[in-house]
Amino acid sequence: MNRKITIVAGDGIGPEIMDEAIKTLQAVSDRFGHQFQLDQRPVGGTAYDRFGDCLPEATLESCKNADAVLLGAVGGPKWDSLPGTKRPEQALLGLRSNLGLFCNLRPAKVWGPLKDASPLRPEIIGDDLDLLVVRELTGGIYFGGHRRNVEGNLAEDVMAYSAAEVERIARMAFELAQKRRRHVTSIDKANILEVSRLWRETVIRIATEYPDVKLDHLYVDNAAMQLVRNPKQFDVILTGNMFGDILSDEASQITGSIGMLPSASLRSDGFGMYEPIHGSAPDIAGKGIANPLATILSVAMMLRMSFGLVQEADAVERAVAETLESGIRTADIARPGEIPATTAEMGSAVAARIA
Ligand code: NAD
Repeated sequence: MNRKITIVAGDGIGPEIMDEAIKTLQAVSDRFGHQFQLDQRPVGGTAYDRFGDCLPEATLESCKNADAVLLGAVGGPKWDSLPGTKRPEQALLGLRSNLGLFCNLRPAKVWGPLKDASPLRPEIIGDDLDLLVVRELTGGIYFGGHRRNVEGNLAEDVMAYSAAEVERIARMAFELAQKRRRHVTSIDKANILEVSRLWRETVIRIATEYPDVKLDHLYVDNAAMQLVRNPKQFDVILTGNMFGDILSDEASQITGSIGMLPSASLRSDGFGMYEPIHGSAPDIAGKGIANPLATILSVAMMLRMSFGLVQEADAVERAVAETLESGIRTADIARPGEIPATTAEMGSAVAARIA
């Protein structure tokens, strides 16, 4: 198989973790005989410094012409004082909206050897905690208008969803649930927000097309509590842009580290952008200690979801499991007293188990 992948490493730890994702791709291509053409492009603050634009036209064009996009992370204190429209994080929103990536999948699973890295008691996480957050990605409050009055002392952000936007993300969630444990929990704030009432009505209507899937609803504040009280009750969590952003970070901590969680942002034709859920981690950037596994697992998602390479994706995930079982841990998941592996050592250990 021959596939074009645009690599946008971005800022902070982005280039460090991306080097390890590239090692993984190389190992997959050596073992299975695929050709991956990688086009590396600047994005985020790094692109702003060079071109005055956090999402240069050439980067966007390359992403549009690729078979899939692999992203590291963007942002950092250096660019925090830029006006909102120029900030590196705008590149993410620009990529998502320009590429039509309305569906964000954030699987959160506890890897057996990392049970001791979870802050929750073993009996709460159980043996095989595995939930999937399905987050709407191109609507809601992140994409409504953002305004400040002339005096600068009043601000507003608009939260809006159309029924059509809710329908397409709800269908994604129900279809994914059919391949899992057939249970969707839709999360909203329907006791307060009109947008959430439309969300709930729409999800209930779409659910009638999937009678084999159980549907229930939670308010977002209760959901935040339930995630730490009894996370095993969840299979697929369906929610909007902002609630999904917050709840998936919470879910990441249940699994031990934000450095473990991959994500996929998809269009309905299967095109996708894949990235770790964490940010650019400026506090550890340049030290070679970041955990590259979220990015490596994002590669596995890309192989499976955009390229249909199931065996290859399984090989990457198995290599990650074997690496963790062998006791290799970066600092974020290391046990007290252990000498942690560097980012590059972790990436090489995974690649060696694929080859
Ligand atoms: P963050 O995810 O970058 O970091 C939060 C904490 O987790 C930090 O202590 C960091 O060291 C740690 N961490 C994150 N990834 C890690 C990894 N792979 N290995 C080990 N530890 C890891 O979130 P933040 O500090 O709120 O944001 C930093 C910057 O990243 C900000 O500019 C923010 O806007 C940006 N951001 C970007 C994205 C993205 O590119 N998708 C997502 C979130 C935040």
